Amino acid sequence: MHALQERFQQQIQELARTANRLADLGYVTSQGGNLSMRVEEDALLITPTKVAKLDVRFEDICVITLQGNVLYAAPGRRPTGEWPFHTRIMRNRPDVRGIIHAHPPALTGFATAGINALAKPYLPEPVLEVGPMVMVPYAVPLSEELAENFDHYIHRSNGFLMENHGALMVSPEGIGRALELLEMMEATARSLAYAAVLGGAKTLSRQDVADLEEVLRVRNLPMPGLPGAVEHLADIFEF
Ligand SMILES: [Zn+2]
Repeated sequence: MHALQERFQQQIQELARTANRLADLGYVTSQGGNLSMRVEEDALLITPTKVAKLDVRFEDICVITLQGNVLYAAPGRRPTGEWPFHTRIMRNRPDVRGIIHAHPPALTGFATAGINALAKPYLPEPVLEVGPMVMVPYAVPLSEELAENFDHYIHRSNGFLMENHGALMVSPEGIGRALELLEMMEATARSLAYAAVLGGAKTLSRQDVADLEEVLRVRNLPMPGLPGAVEHLADIFEF
């Protein structure tokens, strides 16, 4: 085993497991999606290119720096081509420990329909734990432009829709938590689709969101987004 695999053994296992679970959930098909996990100030684990998430194993996980230099990759393995987008987010969000990009069907439905409903507050848990899922404008996958598009949004939430593409979730609490939050938002998207059939969802009011902010304060929980970047919860939602 390589020294870095030994050093980050537990985290590598966790990342491989989370990649497999992402495929089990049907949030990616084949080689789609990518995941990364910060393990040191200047080191992150990242999933490899051209390996289906269902098949990702311990030995497939690559280690790179925040500038994208490869510290470890097994023979025949290279980091996902989306690595610039992961490293850029990690640089802009020093608090983030885990990033998942995937194509969950309901969230991707909203992203392809261009429906920005998930930027509004509907359900208390997503408001408290994720923030608004703002739509990040479309850009060609793997492009610098796509990475740059995130710069305008990344400080003010932990969940994002990618227009005509999919979803992205970050978490300061790690990769497992990022997946839990992605599941929460996929369920929320499904509920909103049901609500649309039933005549339409009603948003929470600005006052409701202000009351939820109080819950965060009382429980001493962080605001969504970069610590210190969001003053009031109601400021980041659309009404
Ligand atoms: Zn994608």
